[in-house]
Amino acid sequence: MKSFIFLIISVLLIACNPHVQENQVTVIPVPVSIEVRKGSFEMDQQTKIIPGIQEMNEMASYLTDFIKTSSGLALEVGGTDKVKSNFILIKLDTTDEELGDEGYRLKAEKKGITISAAKPAGIFYGIQTFKQLIRKDNNGATFPAVDITDYPRFRWRGYLLDPARHFRTKDEIKRYIDLIALCKMNTMQLHLTDDQGWRLEIRKYPELTLKGSLSDNSGRKGSGWYYTQEDIRELVQYAESRFVTLVPEIEMPRHSLAATSVYPHLGCEGQPASELCVSKETTGQFSRNVLTEVMSLFPSPYIHVGADEVRPERWRSCPSCSLKIRQMLSANPENNLLIHNVKVTSGAGMPYHKDISLLQGWYNRGIDRHISASNRRMVGWDEIMDGGLDRTSNAIVMAWRSEDAIRGAISLGRNVIVTLYPDYHLDNDLSLERTYTFDPVPAGLSSEEEKLILGVQGNMWGESTPTVKEIDQRTFPRLAAIAETGWSQPSGKDFPSFTDRLKPFGALLETFGVLTEGWKE
Ligand SMILES: [Zn+2]
Repeated sequence: MKSFIFLIISVLLIACNPHVQENQVTVIPVPVSIEVRKGSFEMDQQTKIIPGIQEMNEMASYLTDFIKTSSGLALEVGGTDKVKSNFILIKLDTTDEELGDEGYRLKAEKKGITISAAKPAGIFYGIQTFKQLIRKDNNGATFPAVDITDYPRFRWRGYLLDPARHFRTKDEIKRYIDLIALCKMNTMQLHLTDDQGWRLEIRKYPELTLKGSLSDNSGRKGSGWYYTQEDIRELVQYAESRFVTLVPEIEMPRHSLAATSVYPHLGCEGQPASELCVSKETTGQFSRNVLTEVMSLFPSPYIHVGADEVRPERWRSCPSCSLKIRQMLSANPENNLLIHNVKVTSGAGMPYHKDISLLQGWYNRGIDRHISASNRRMVGWDEIMDGGLDRTSNAIVMAWRSEDAIRGAISLGRNVIVTLYPDYHLDNDLSLERTYTFDPVPAGLSSEEEKLILGVQGNMWGESTPTVKEIDQRTFPRLAAIAETGWSQPSGKDFPSFTDRLKPFGALLETFGVLTEGWKE
């Protein structure tokens, strides 16, 4: 009965006051469990932020900064967890196993707020939720009484940015790191090289950036359109402070025109082309040397090597590559028990060609071994399966062409990240509802098979987005939908509820300059 009366009062309040809706307790991505209680915590100038242990000092000042900007309250950090009232306590509790590496609890009551987690990342995500619930008022800020327990569904929640097609400055990348962290996403894939430009300083091959970074997909000419190694260290550190892993993507063997244009000997018959001349040992050496420097810059456990969309013409007409293909065909590769493969012939991408896949598989496996030798894992677009992977390799498949790629990777017992075209490609005009309702787990998988799916990723390809404003417009709100799929339990997802929650979430994005006008469903 009590809740019924409460419901009536709430309905009346909403009916009388158009602003009440803005004060509803809403979070994106929707938490595993959220209980809204009566009452609230009132924050004022005396509220203390208590870091609990020294290790959490940085997190406490990160929270203090946010409260200052959003409410004007300049709160003091300090005190111990013995404080009985008017506190915001950050509590790292390594024994809370239910929460895993990224989960958190957020309990707000009249006397104070406690954000607890087993790991620092969990505290960070608790703070992201905090940001969505705090409301500025006349005396400072108010926070609804809630009891939240929350942890992610998937461990890989990614966003791809494409500074190869149109360069993005260091500050722009940092802004996107902040934006995806707000969505509780933890991975940013940087597409650093493509036909249009090479954007990463490689000391062993200085021409790559000296000459290979001077243009973009709009045909404009510019300078400084690349990241120095110092820039990368700065970005890596910034991303770490937001619990985001920066995954470098160096495209090979196709999408390499920027490299072959400045070093033509890497192309077939010494000519610039999108495909590298993979049959030549000097090309293999180049690829490995580049990756060695990349691995020295990026601590990421994952190194992405592209591997998509090789066209048949260039390799077939190259004397060296075609000879290698003939040798491989005559060796009857189907009998090689050390390799396993799946041919994905449906969906987007290039048609399957056995000869081309054979050569690419041989080249990719060499790259894979080089990356594994440094204790990293190769990630590639799902074409890495066509030509075969070493059975012992722990390479990760990024499925984009069709659901067959997800199923194919799983049939090989491989980890897979779901980023299917067109659902999770953000550079198209697909509807928000379609992106939201797409389920990355194909029907009929066993729970063991489902565990092979590491997560989801939204790809913001940059061919047609020369400005940040255009990237923002394509990224949001669809990325929030992908973030909710990546974080929230399927049982908690609901599209009408999501669109209701988008408005207050959008207000938070607006503080980063994202324009939410014209968001359509
Ligand atoms: Zn060749």
